[in-house]
Amino acid sequence: MNKVRTRFAPSPTGSLHIGGLRTALYAYALAKHENGDFILRIEDTDKKREVTGSREKIEELLTLFGLKWDEHYVQSERVEKGIYKKAAEKLEKSGYAYNEGGAIRLKIPKNEKVGFHDFVLNKDIKWDTNTLEDLVLLKSDGFPTYHLAVVVDDNDMKISHVLRGHDWMPSTPIHLLVYKYLGLPLPEIGHLTDILDPDGGKLSKRKGSTTCEALLKEGYLPEAILNFIMLLGWAPKDNKELFSLDEFVKAFDPSGFQKANPIFNREKLDWFNGQYIRQLPDKELNSRLKTQDSRLAELSEDKQLAITSLVKDRIKKLSEFRKLAGFFFEWQKPAPRMFGRYYKDHLAAAINAIEEGKSLENVPKEKRFKVGDFFMDLRIAIAGSKFTPPINDSIMILGKDETIKRLKKISS
Ligand code: GLU
Repeated sequence: MNKVRTRFAPSPTGSLHIGGLRTALYAYALAKHENGDFILRIEDTDKKREVTGSREKIEELLTLFGLKWDEHYVQSERVEKGIYKKAAEKLEKSGYAYNEGGAIRLKIPKNEKVGFHDFVLNKDIKWDTNTLEDLVLLKSDGFPTYHLAVVVDDNDMKISHVLRGHDWMPSTPIHLLVYKYLGLPLPEIGHLTDILDPDGGKLSKRKGSTTCEALLKEGYLPEAILNFIMLLGWAPKDNKELFSLDEFVKAFDPSGFQKANPIFNREKLDWFNGQYIRQLPDKELNSRLKTQDSRLAELSEDKQLAITSLVKDRIKKLSEFRKLAGFFFEWQKPAPRMFGRYYKDHLAAAINAIEEGKSLENVPKEKRFKVGDFFMDLRIAIAGSKFTPPINDSIMILGKDETIKRLKKISS
């Protein structure tokens, strides 16, 4: 068998979406599973749609997710070498393309069938050429369109398996004709299923982030995002769910491609993220949390780690850190309506116990308070919220003085 060579071929026209990352991941795994090569090809022939910086961002993200490419190409650089022009002229000379207004167009034949076997969907797909239109292959400015460049490059770069999103299916019959007319062998071609919103329809950002950058900013770990998308269109033979990239590559086998469109289940993504957060060593988690909230870095190392370990079991996203632990850095006097009926008694008793170095646990029994009510008032007083890490640990980190200061400001 020839070496497996796959490619990811993004156009630098905007942010890398979760679907794009999935295509890159599957292409990477397909190649690496067979010790093959993974190629990154920047498809920047549509200069009007190009977004400055997006190429660099895509490369940075692929690197962050660990999808290392073995070779890297940029189509605009190949334009300068006249590679596409030569192919277009060859088609023109042999009568499969014609010149119109300075552009070279593919001549679609009448009453023919074109088809291929999709290796992802495991299905034969056919088109009637009467449903297709003559399309531009080479623009008047000498730049190729996607249809020409993709075929020429996949062939030149010896791509054995073309993997792309389902959106590109309508372009495939055009490519099939170009392959045929240029006398090139067909690679394996596969189209990945669409990722759906839980409410149906294609994934959209109405319900939340769908770009890699936005998800990272929200506090999802790259490991968790990657693990989540591994299973959005592929399933292992067993029910294993947690995969590192290496484990995924080992397990990856095209027979695991799913035929049904996967659903972007945010609860599942949260679950993965929680798993990965808890797997991180405290020190590592601490440094990632500092990128979310720079105030953490201002504390002593001991305190930083103590706070990190307190929130570790409780957050699903790094961005929740501010909500959960913000009170360590900043305190606002809670409105009286937040408290229960007996809060003044509760807080006074707590101040006493802390000042005398007694355990808070015994206070409710001694004073005949309801345990839950007592600690809830204390929580609200110290943190301004009903949802905090365990209150005793939090007081230890805040320190006796700061705690008493806060309590007194409320009860006075
Ligand atoms: N440049 C196309 C894209 O941005 C590549 C499609 C393909 O992989 O053939 O998705």
